[in-house]
Amino acid sequence: MEDCHPLLRGGRRKEKGYSHGLSTTHMHVLASICDTLFPSIQFNNENQPLSSFYTTSGSQFPFPDEGAELLMLFKRSVPEALPLVKWILRILSFRLGTLLLCGTYCLQWKWPFVLKFSEIALEKRQEMLKSWSNAKCWWLPLRDVFVLLKLSFFYTLFSRTDENGNNPMWKAIGYKVDTREKLKPKKRPLQEGLIETTHETDSTLIQSLNEKGLEVTEDEEKNLYKIKCDVVVVGSGCGGGVAAAVLAKSGHKVIILEKGEYFVSQDYSSLENSSMGELYESGGIMPTIDGKTMILAGSTVGGGSAINWAACVRTPDSVMKEWSEKYKLPLFASSDYRSAMDSVCKRIGVTDKCNKESFQNQVLRKGCESIGLKVESVSVNASADHYCGSCNYGCRTGDKKGTDSTWLVDAVENGAVILTGCKAEKFILQDGKNGTKRKNCSGVTAAASWKTDYEIQTSETTFISTLFNLFGAISLKT
Ligand SMILES: Cc1cc2nc3c(=O)[nH]c(=O)nc-3n(C[C@H](O)[C@H](O)[C@H](O)COP(=O)(O)OP(=O)(O)OC[C@H]3O[C@@H](n4cnc5c(N)ncnc54)[C@H](O)[C@@H]3O)c2cc1C
Repeated sequence: MEDCHPLLRGGRRKEKGYSHGLSTTHMHVLASICDTLFPSIQFNNENQPLSSFYTTSGSQFPFPDEGAELLMLFKRSVPEALPLVKWILRILSFRLGTLLLCGTYCLQWKWPFVLKFSEIALEKRQEMLKSWSNAKCWWLPLRDVFVLLKLSFFYTLFSRTDENGNNPMWKAIGYKVDTREKLKPKKRPLQEGLIETTHETDSTLIQSLNEKGLEVTEDEEKNLYKIKCDVVVVGSGCGGGVAAAVLAKSGHKVIILEKGEYFVSQDYSSLENSSMGELYESGGIMPTIDGKTMILAGSTVGGGSAINWAACVRTPDSVMKEWSEKYKLPLFASSDYRSAMDSVCKRIGVTDKCNKESFQNQVLRKGCESIGLKVESVSVNASADHYCGSCNYGCRTGDKKGTDSTWLVDAVENGAVILTGCKAEKFILQDGKNGTKRKNCSGVTAAASWKTDYEIQTSETTFISTLFNLFGAISLKT
């Protein structure tokens, strides 16, 4: 296994055990659902990886347990789904329950006439799951449960790795992990301004903050650190990075709160499972309520810009016109907006001279051209020959110029401090002056990952800015 950050290494630490909390009864049914989705098939062939691929059953350890672990991640985004899954697994462990959910699929002409789900023949179980996949049952969202189970299982099966970063399935299906040489800079570009709270303790945090020029007071009674600064930026993504750089340059003492961790090119492993877990919001598991769409967003220093595909499309004239006229936002018709776009494109090194196209883009181009559609190339914030199939797990060649290697570097050079592993939780709002209804924001409380019963409160701020597209973008001025 090549060198990478321990958090991105992959493999399950055995001593960790499983925390999914499903009982043996639940697991028994889940295992037979996994077997239904991926049954063992007789296959005699000299190609060992292929033979093993076909003969493996989804019910084999550790697939159901690891699938169940992943299932638990949905708790954050669709909390109502998990009790339902547990209930359905439980029901399917009884004969009458199986009859209720599977209908005639579980009947046979000999004793005991009604079978439990795990006793039903494979073909019938498959038919039954297929019927769930199209179910339009108003009182029980069987289709949603099917989608959830299928997604958790297959994602686990194909993305899990051992401690060496290998998955035996990959050879059989021809999947290869990106192993191109990584850029190994001598110095991590943001190190000077970084406080990684995961590595801090009660005794070191104050010192680290002081060393970065921040005044801190500790309120032991309230479990609170109060940090004084001019500006707090929540989120270090595309918006946050630019705001932090501009404000720091204009002389403000800026703190950036980032709930994700900091990684550089040499840290990346390009492994799907661990990279999604560490670099994405909710570990990449954030479906819409109906389970039909998965929402992806970066959650690491640099936000989306650290894991996105580097396509840089300037706001088209027609859109700027619509925003300014229909939505009465004159800024978008102004030269200020165009010049801001120019500045951003310049700083992140946008080029339209891409001479190497990714495989998927080549396929897309060919398909579009073959049906007569006009295809244009998209500009990117990377070098002209940057061809990357794994930038969504972090750019290992360091070619992509995300916020983490551009705007945040500028911010840090001008004294900004980035607190990683630090999640903003609440804005402190106070009544406005002179009896106005508008509230003023005087600070933000945040929880650091090293100790959850402590809070960090940044106060005496002149401006607080939260900039992340997914949870709404607001700017508050005191
Ligand atoms: C896989 C992928 C590919 C993409 N490809 C492209 C592309 O090619 N071209 C393109 O233009 N766009 C692309 N995008 C979209 C683009 O990256 C986003 O639109 C952009 O990053 C949004 O910027 P932002 O500042 O609003 O938020 P983000 O860049 O998402 O940054 C938000 C940051 O805030 C942090 N955060 C959130 N809540 C808190 C909190 N409470 N406390 C502390 N920190 C917090 C997050 O961890 C994150 O780091 C892609 C997105 C993804 C996920």
